[in-house]
Amino acid sequence: MTTPPSPTAFNTDLPDYTKLPKLLVGQKALVTGANSGIGQAAAIGLARAGADVVVNYVTGDAAAQKVVEAIEAEGVRGLAIEADVSKELEVEDMFAKAIDAFGTLDILVANAGLQRDSSLVGMTMSQWNTVINVNLTGQFLCARAAAKEFMRRGVRKEVSVAAGKIICMSSVHEVIPWAGHVNYASSKGGIFMMMKSLAQELAPHRIRVNSIGPGAIRTPINTNAWETPEAYASLMELVPYRRIGEPEDIANVAVFLASDLADYINGVTIFVDGGMTCYPGFATGG
Ligand code: NAD
Repeated sequence: MTTPPSPTAFNTDLPDYTKLPKLLVGQKALVTGANSGIGQAAAIGLARAGADVVVNYVTGDAAAQKVVEAIEAEGVRGLAIEADVSKELEVEDMFAKAIDAFGTLDILVANAGLQRDSSLVGMTMSQWNTVINVNLTGQFLCARAAAKEFMRRGVRKEVSVAAGKIICMSSVHEVIPWAGHVNYASSKGGIFMMMKSLAQELAPHRIRVNSIGPGAIRTPINTNAWETPEAYASLMELVPYRRIGEPEDIANVAVFLASDLADYINGVTIFVDGGMTCYPGFATGG
């Protein structure tokens, strides 16, 4: 498991992230890219809320096993499954194994993602394809496999009024352009329309599809944006709420979106960004 930095380093007055209500008892979840950062926190958060959780990972078996241990410490079942979300057969195989082990699935958190940054003119096809394949195609493949199971099975009234919940991990960069990251911003913009189209298509089956749009969250993907006091101060100019997000800030919203408390929420992105999408550059005029 990637060791998270101290939550108090450059950050204070955090909520008590352990106070999660048991909103998901009896439900079965699969979280992709769950052995690091946001996925890890989401997997543990769903477990804390009462769900059994599959921990998908592509590399880092030991880290995945530690997340499984943390899940089982919450008194529910955890299971690590290796699969590259950009590979159709591996995704199909992962869902078959998960359904075999847990009986079914109720929740997908399509979280796995990466960056391969470059200026436009320096960007290789490999950098472009890797990001689109993992961030966008990976979410499509996982959503398709999850929807098949949700539609096959229908509503399980004893655990939820919905037949299934799909939560896409997007980004503020589904709406904020990002120079030097055209592959990443394009993948997240694509997730926006994929999520909305799936929400429209699957709603008659009582399947809800929504996205979370994280702002700056303290994970290994963006270490250089927060690891020194100078970088942190510069980052805070983009965050009106003046603190970096913790992975648990995202996990809390994933739990809420997966629960029946959010039953009438469908086809939206909830930005969890301390106000980053509020155009902070205009705070002092324009
Ligand atoms: P992270 O690097 O800690 O985690 C990414 C996870 O995805 C890792 O577990 C990695 O192994 C996994 N992964 C990568 N390629 C994979 C593949 N082919 N198959 C399966 N798993 C794969 O970064 P994070 O910040 O936790 O990112 C999680 C998600 O949140 C990503 O989609 C990212 O774009 C999004 N996000 C993060 C931030 C942030 O500030 N950290 C902001 C906006 C959006």
